[in-house]
Amino acid sequence: MISVVIPLYNENVLVDRLLTEVFMHLGSLGELFEVVCVDDGSSDSTLSRLLEFKKNNKQLKVVSLSRNFGLQAALTAGLEHVKGEYIIMMDGDFQDPPELIPVLYKTLREKKADIVTAIREQRNEKFTKKLYINIFHKIFSSITEDKQIANAGNFCIMNRNAHDAILKFAERNRYLPGIRSFIGFKQASIFYDRPERLEGEAKMSRKKLFALAADAIYSFSKWPIKLCLYLGITGVFVFLAAIIYTVVSKFIGFAPTGWSSTFLAISFFGSVQLTFLGIIGEYIYRIFKEVQNRPIYFVKEFYE
Ligand code: UDP
Ligand code: MG
Repeated sequence: MISVVIPLYNENVLVDRLLTEVFMHLGSLGELFEVVCVDDGSSDSTLSRLLEFKKNNKQLKVVSLSRNFGLQAALTAGLEHVKGEYIIMMDGDFQDPPELIPVLYKTLREKKADIVTAIREQRNEKFTKKLYINIFHKIFSSITEDKQIANAGNFCIMNRNAHDAILKFAERNRYLPGIRSFIGFKQASIFYDRPERLEGEAKMSRKKLFALAADAIYSFSKWPIKLCLYLGITGVFVFLAAIIYTVVSKFIGFAPTGWSSTFLAISFFGSVQLTFLGIIGEYIYRIFKEVQNRPIYFVKEFYE
């Protein structure tokens, strides 16, 4: 059986068209399938539309979360409710085109891979969004030294082994594309041009996207804390140079050269230390979140 996980947050204008297409492409494969839609606490009619569609399509399962927990939590909820041998994750706004479902499935079978990821060659997004997405992927793929991950999103298919491995990760600060690449196994990819969202506004607000990017970077690299170290070491050298300068000028005799050097040294170290505290604070915040060990989501109801 093939299971498709689709997280949805206020997507009522798209639900019907999306499910019709997804069902059509899944049906063309001639395998058993189910579609697990996760309603991530939508405040519009997404849930009732899903339930309406379900009346005539028993293969649709709906996980209704108790509130909006965010994309990564919704995906996790979906993954924990699938029964299939092959599992697909996709966005529900047609940016992960349903017609690629058969391609993903066939590639997985032909290449005997455990995971096939859909990689975005071109993106059709607004200029600024494209810009910061590109910057994130540049940074992320270079710090994780994983080229495979560049330009990969949620869209993928995996088998049970890979699925079970991904669900072993109990971390709260989750970034599933990172985890998916981290687990290894036999990975393959297909390439596609990512279209614009078919309708409506993006549900990942800028704030949510930036928070996700920070989670990804903090949980998959030592880069921020390394940066502190390197800046600190640079600071030490600058400080040493300042000491030598001060001592030498004392002996040469033009000692009270004034406040500018003092002021510069104080403000330099002050700001460096505040930056360090900020970065360390980010780590402490994340450690705190992990230690609290709160549930990632709550299911209000599972319509099986
Ligand atoms: N989504 C979700 N919970 C959220 C935000 C988004 O389940 O809090 C869903 C959304 O409905 C969509 C998918 O996640 O199906 C991707 O969201 P969006 O298109 O806004 O993200 P982007 O295109 O910016 O990656
Ligand atoms: Mg989208």
